[in-house]
Amino acid sequence: MNLEKDMGTDYDVVIVGTGMVGLTLACCLKDQDLRIALINKDLLNKKKLTQASRQRVIAVTLGSQRLLEQLNVWQRLDKKHYAPFRRMQVWESGQSSQLFFDSADMGLATLGYIVKNYDLGHALCAQAKTDSELTWLIPDTLMALQQEENHVVITLASGKEIRTRLLVGADGAQSKVRQLADFYIKSTDYQQRALIATVQTEWAHDQTARQIFLAEGPLAFLPLTDAHYCSIVWSSTPEEIERLAALDDVFFCEELTHAFEHCLGEVISTSARFSYPLKTQETEQYIKSNIALIGDAAHIIHPLAGQGANLGIADAKRLAKVILEAKQRHRNIGAWYTLRRYERERRFHNRVMLGSVDGIKHLFAATHPMLQKTRQWGLNVINKTNCLKNFISRYAIGDFKV
Ligand SMILES: Cc1cc2nc3c(=O)[nH]c(=O)nc-3n(C[C@H](O)[C@H](O)[C@H](O)COP(=O)(O)OP(=O)(O)OC[C@H]3O[C@@H](n4cnc5c(N)ncnc54)[C@H](O)[C@@H]3O)c2cc1C
Repeated sequence: MNLEKDMGTDYDVVIVGTGMVGLTLACCLKDQDLRIALINKDLLNKKKLTQASRQRVIAVTLGSQRLLEQLNVWQRLDKKHYAPFRRMQVWESGQSSQLFFDSADMGLATLGYIVKNYDLGHALCAQAKTDSELTWLIPDTLMALQQEENHVVITLASGKEIRTRLLVGADGAQSKVRQLADFYIKSTDYQQRALIATVQTEWAHDQTARQIFLAEGPLAFLPLTDAHYCSIVWSSTPEEIERLAALDDVFFCEELTHAFEHCLGEVISTSARFSYPLKTQETEQYIKSNIALIGDAAHIIHPLAGQGANLGIADAKRLAKVILEAKQRHRNIGAWYTLRRYERERRFHNRVMLGSVDGIKHLFAATHPMLQKTRQWGLNVINKTNCLKNFISRYAIGDFKV
């Protein structure tokens, strides 16, 4: 007898949001005899991508890349879709101290990969679609939800009403699941924006990801497959970002060259520029009975450490494990006590990362001379202390957890 049908539900798991994180969860849960539906308000269609979306890239940690390989997603990416970075260099504007990580020192081939968001999303989508039993309710939008005993009833913009044992909110920073289920959030607006663009540089990047801390915020150059192209993320005040975005390309390249201390020679050309507001945010709880939040729906982190999507991918992996174990033991997959195991582990881990990145952001923003000296001393000490450096880098690349 089918237990789920007895409970009068349409699905075991409904995932709202088919961004990277929601699709990772679908790939983890597919082919496991679960009735799964995916809902997204728009289609993943290259032709319909905005110019801004085409340019978005993420740094994928080794931890995420290994999971994506296990899920047969990574194999779907063409070699020209991802650029390995073997070294990382971090320094402060006008100062000589720096942090330098080399994968060779850690016995690794690479520290991570730069991948276009679209390419990874496309690979995840193609892999999820190998399970013909998945139901794709796209395009459609979550409009309302009601918690009942042992299940949730949701209403979509199309008028469909669906009952599910577990509703997963993977619907990003403005999560409707989070709002409708009344999760409490703590949020700090950094009063900053991040400007992104793809730029061409005079000198080759040598597969090195670089980040300079300027007075107003960090500026990162992420190496792309072409040795003379980088994706940049430049964080600063909204007024400064507005000014930089409005500059003529030639002047922008000049300012960028100067801000980056000519580290890759001249910046020769730039793509169109786009910007995003920056904040840190986390829900107090990640779960309620029959509801779980993952990815940006649960937490948002400053992009300076390139961790946001990686934390979300790790959430998806952990939630899938909890669901599959409960199913195997014939337990209720949506029960609070089942989901609590997901929340306990991921909330702790994410808080450590959110707190560390927030701390780094504030430390480098501080202008007090004593703090500036301490920063320089700290960078030097870490750079020269191999075990400490190894610990930090292995944690950042997802090679092990705290
Ligand atoms: C400038 C910048 C640089 C970054 N760099 C990195 C990096 O290097 N590495 C890294 O790991 N992270 C990085 N991040 C963070 C990363 O982009 C996000 O953490 C990640 O994209 C979040 O994925 P998600 O799937 O949780 O949410 P999203 O990608 O936002 O996906 C949510 C999905 O839900 C859908 N949706 C929303 N509401 C509804 C609704 N009501 N009904 C149906 N569907 C809905 C949306 O259409 C969307 O498809 C960066 C972020 C920024 C801003």
